[in-house]
Amino acid sequence: MISIKGLTKRFGGTTVLDDIDLDIAEGERVVVIGPSGTGKSTLLRCLNFLDRPDEGTITIGDLSVDAARASKADILALRRRTAFVFQNYALFANRTAQENIMEALVTVQKRPKAEAAERAREILRETGLSDKGDSYPAALSGGQQQRVGIGRAMAIGADVMLFDEPTSALDPEWVGEVLDLMRRVARKRQTMLIVTHEMQFAREIADRMVFMHGGRIVEAGEPEQIFGAPKDERLQRFLQRVG
Ligand code: ADP
Ligand code: MG
Repeated sequence: MISIKGLTKRFGGTTVLDDIDLDIAEGERVVVIGPSGTGKSTLLRCLNFLDRPDEGTITIGDLSVDAARASKADILALRRRTAFVFQNYALFANRTAQENIMEALVTVQKRPKAEAAERAREILRETGLSDKGDSYPAALSGGQQQRVGIGRAMAIGADVMLFDEPTSALDPEWVGEVLDLMRRVARKRQTMLIVTHEMQFAREIADRMVFMHGGRIVEAGEPEQIFGAPKDERLQRFLQRVG
């Protein structure tokens, strides 16, 4: 359902993503791991053109976008099929939890306000935040803010949800509730591409894992293989450090 071919991104003279190929099936959960600075965030950001890739093709369902020739309409269409969960939540500080969840439904999807509000209330229930709809982000814990961030992404009904280290900005006490919500999303067979350093969680949730190093995919496989029988020496060293 998602096919990434030859994805390449340079910043100045530095190649940050180097000819990435990756296919993700509908409902599949793929976890990306790798040392910091290796291009994991850039990979996710290139998939919806938060960073513009230099080369490669991104296909989501029947939409295929060639990076070198992508039009504004292509980019918008791609963004409608993806939902992004940021490390730092990236909520609108001057909007309530419910308004944050409604935002894209109203501005991007052009849904009537009442309908968007109803959908947001559903999402608030699902994320365990029914009593927080009128709260502003500053009045919420880190865990609650990230649950709003995930709720906002759920509301869109995107083909794929992209998670960029959704728990790494959180105090340890809030990590569990955010991972629980991600498990709940996964149970709905939502296609997910997740960057995380939570190895236990990765092992449990991933259908497939991808190890990146220096802008390349160095090794990929099922969690049992990645953790139990890693082949690449860089992956072995990485697992020793984080595990
Ligand atoms: P990761 O998420 O794996 O830690 P990133 O994708 O954030 O890695 O970054 C990969 C490399 O690209 C790093 O060397 C980083 O400094 C560089 N980089 C990321 N974003 C930019 C940018 N906007 N401008 C210049 N360099 C960038
Ligand atoms: Mg990153």
